[in-house]
Amino acid sequence: MTDTNHKIIIAIDGHSSCGKSTVAREIASKLNYIFIDTGAMYRAVTLYCLRNKLINNGLVDIPKLNTNLDKIKVYFRFNPQTSHNDIWLNGENVEEEIRLLAVSQNVSPVAAVAEVRHLLVALQQEMGKSKGIVMDGRDIGTVVFPDAELKIYMTAQPDVRAKRRYDELIAKGEHVSYDEIKANIIERDRYDENRKESPLRKAADAIVLDNSLMTPEEQLDWVLSQINKL
Ligand code: C5P
Repeated sequence: MTDTNHKIIIAIDGHSSCGKSTVAREIASKLNYIFIDTGAMYRAVTLYCLRNKLINNGLVDIPKLNTNLDKIKVYFRFNPQTSHNDIWLNGENVEEEIRLLAVSQNVSPVAAVAEVRHLLVALQQEMGKSKGIVMDGRDIGTVVFPDAELKIYMTAQPDVRAKRRYDELIAKGEHVSYDEIKANIIERDRYDENRKESPLRKAADAIVLDNSLMTPEEQLDWVLSQINKL
């Protein structure tokens, strides 16, 4: 097991809605590490774009977005009520709003913009410079921390992922259909895997975790056993 004098970086990448953040948060809490959900950062920039009409019919106005980048401040703040680090956008807690389907439906084209990635990757690297961090996303093991001590590539069957996400949104009171959730998950993966700028790929040295048939406890035990092997 890692001790506090020997902190490592744990990079968790993989497909949409396969529970990366849930596992990452649990592991971080067990190890007393920082947990960073980088998807929340891309979602916050997307929310800014939606509010400022920088996306029209799914098309991002890239030149306008680039001239606005210095006005977009994205950061995490500890929420004492939930004991989680919430995502903030320009002085406002947007943790809830970024999870809406409208944001999910527009985030991938925003995340494909090179300048957006450069800005957010630099922030992420800064957050991990003292190690002791569990970060989840799409390019953590390949681009953000290519030297991470442990890299996990998570996936699950699309139907399983869609059902989990659908249940989550319904529980929050959103009016969504299972079919639109499944379509969004598949479309985001396709977009993320095929974009030019840091596409979603399994790092050569990442270990695959397919959690289609696993409970959250089993996933946690699996990751802890990988850490113990280091
Ligand atoms: O993880 P989550 O599903 O919240 O991420 C939302 C979107 O943000 C992804 O579909 C992807 O387009 C983008 N993303 C990314 N790189 C990351 C994290 C997320 O491109 N490191």
